Amino acid sequence: MKGVIYLGEKVSGDLLKEREEFIFCKNDSCSGEMKCDSDSLSGAVSQRACVYCGARVVLNPITDAYHIVHGPIGCASYTWDIRGSLSSGEELYRNSFSTDLSEEDIIFGGEKKLTSAIEGIMENHSPKIIFIYVTCIVGVIGDDVEAVCRKAEEKYAIPVIPVKAPGFSGNKSKGYKAAGDALMNLFRRNIYPKVNGVNILGDFNLAGEMWIIQDYLKKIGVNIVSTITGDASYDKLKRASSASFNIVQCAGSMTALAKKMEAEMDIPFIKISFVGLEDTKNSLLKIASLFGDRKTIERAKDLISKEEERIIPILNSYKENLKGKKAAIYVGGGFKAISLIKQFKELGMDTVLVGTQTGKKDDYEVINNLVDNGTVVLDDANPAELEKFIKEKGADILAAGVKERPLAYKLGLAFCDHNHERKHPLGGFIGAINFAKEVNESVNSPVWKYVREGR
Ligand code: SF4
Repeated sequence: MKGVIYLGEKVSGDLLKEREEFIFCKNDSCSGEMKCDSDSLSGAVSQRACVYCGARVVLNPITDAYHIVHGPIGCASYTWDIRGSLSSGEELYRNSFSTDLSEEDIIFGGEKKLTSAIEGIMENHSPKIIFIYVTCIVGVIGDDVEAVCRKAEEKYAIPVIPVKAPGFSGNKSKGYKAAGDALMNLFRRNIYPKVNGVNILGDFNLAGEMWIIQDYLKKIGVNIVSTITGDASYDKLKRASSASFNIVQCAGSMTALAKKMEAEMDIPFIKISFVGLEDTKNSLLKIASLFGDRKTIERAKDLISKEEERIIPILNSYKENLKGKKAAIYVGGGFKAISLIKQFKELGMDTVLVGTQTGKKDDYEVINNLVDNGTVVLDDANPAELEKFIKEKGADILAAGVKERPLAYKLGLAFCDHNHERKHPLGGFIGAINFAKEVNESVNSPVWKYVREGR
């Protein structure tokens, strides 16, 4: 069992028996083992997306790639323009291409349709790279997608890369791995000599957040080789092997890739987070220290003190309104949950519930150390569990993704959208202000009183 020793006690009552191992209530005086990083329990209505979706969200921000979804049309429409990732160049990634498999293809095989989809794109456009996503049904019927990709590469002399993500083969984390494998497939073909610079992994340029990080690194004098995958282009991605370091923001989706790049391309990595004031500060200092250059560190310290001078008074004004309020967090990966706990603390708020869809043992160990006694920690939750613990713990706000929004509103609870569709940045110093503003406006909105009274 992939478990984490947790200082706390098991929670029971109104829960599926098999789910009890995934939920703990922090309590310093006793310890147990919490299960995580496992496949979802059938029938438990997990909030996780499928394997294919996990792969698509990682690769979709590559702005000049063609993404062909080999499967029924629903798989393509489900993830069409799925992220609020912005582009400084091409807008191709905002399209969704599909082989639109139907019953006949499922009986006789879909390889011909895939070949003609690639031909169609080659005849009408000039792609630099194509990704082919394997979906559930393709995994079931067993199309040889790799062979189709190989033949297309020979014929057209561009990378046509299979993304092996059949939905039934696991959970969203497996999709992250499939996306990482597809990227490695591209990187291995393009080995360049080393340069002084970093790759940024696991920022997807939601509402321009990658540009905020890029601006900070430019100010402190750190060169960026590739962005993986926010605002990425084929030409820049190709140079990823030349970076001296990888800095990994979304550890859940990118750690496996970072480890492979370290082993095969000799690129060490560090984990960072630009979510919240404390983590933004620490991340800048960590990145500045990578090159052992005093001037870079001085510039980072200078940037931090200027930004703190500007934003701390603003954050303090929101803190007045938020002190003592209770937060619930349910997000995709561990890195974001950890940063959010700290961020709510910065606003004087307590986290009473925290959970993730794809958190790993290491993430839950950090979470365990950050939260207070009485906090409920849960992995791969379902809506019934979230509702139960939100009510029991008396949370004032839920910070979560689009799938949890209706739950919060039905409960008459304030909501902070921390998902990939959002339109304003929550990263960096500016993001810390946006977050505080959104939390304050939502928690202190008079509307919740009327929603609750109206029941
Ligand atoms: S890959 Fe499977 S689970 Fe995912 S969208 Fe397609 S049919 Fe649904």
